[in-house]
Amino acid sequence: MQDQRVVAVANQKGGVGKTTTVMNLAAALAAYEESVLVIDLDPQSNCTSGLGWSDGGASSYEVLEGAVPLAQAWSRTAFPGLDLLPARRDLVGAEVELLQFDDHALRLRQALGASPTPHRWVLVDCPPSLGVLTVNALAAADSVLIPIQCEYFALEGVSELLRTLDRVRAAWNPGLAVEGVLLTLHDERLSLAQQVMDEVRRFFGESVYHSVIPRNVRLAEAPSFGQTILQYDIRSRGAQAYLALADEVQRRRRDHEALRAG
Ligand code: ATP
Ligand code: MG
Repeated sequence: MQDQRVVAVANQKGGVGKTTTVMNLAAALAAYEESVLVIDLDPQSNCTSGLGWSDGGASSYEVLEGAVPLAQAWSRTAFPGLDLLPARRDLVGAEVELLQFDDHALRLRQALGASPTPHRWVLVDCPPSLGVLTVNALAAADSVLIPIQCEYFALEGVSELLRTLDRVRAAWNPGLAVEGVLLTLHDERLSLAQQVMDEVRRFFGESVYHSVIPRNVRLAEAPSFGQTILQYDIRSRGAQAYLALADEVQRRRRDHEALRAG
């Protein structure tokens, strides 16, 4: 089996496109025939409903609590190659309940280690906070993908996020890398948007993806039909942007693996 790559999609700022990115990057990678597991670690469970999931069954809560092994908890979605470990509202309680475990930051990491899944990619959708759920994602991940909205104060809160990454590296996960920084909700009619993009690129340099996700109403509509953008409107600019992103993500990975292999 190929190496598995676990990517946490995180930014404690709300509404920057984390969930939209997890759903649609996952679908685009699956469309390129890479198997993907989406783990919903957000009690809002937007990713779960956006992927059309309504069934009961195990969820990320039971996996974090250690009640169900990960390999038995995930399910297939309507999108071939895209599997899901859903979240339910009860995950709200996990924020507090997990603190009773000494290893509360490592619950997801242990679940992934103890019960491997066959997926090439694992994308973890994080809530808009730097609490124990996001820390679990970061401690378990090979890398973090940071969506940043093209708007005023785009970099606000970024230093706090970077400090959290350093803290997680120091305590549990020294290898945690930045997978990439993704500019989202880009509106070309706003003259400000270009300034923001330049600023983000100055700050993060090469980490910023060339692919930029436009503000596109089809992306906002798709989840209410329980569909990814590839199912809802593959011709939309949103779909094309996420396909281009998936291509870039894969290319970076191949380049990286080629370097490592010498
Ligand atoms: P939260 O922090 O609450 O989890 P989030 O970072 O996951 O939010 P999303 O839920 O992906 O952000 O996006 C916030 C809102 O903006 C949603 O209503 C979503 O449909 C919409 N949205 C996200 N990306 C785009 C886009 N590129 N174009 C248009 N609408 C978008
Ligand atoms: Mg979200």
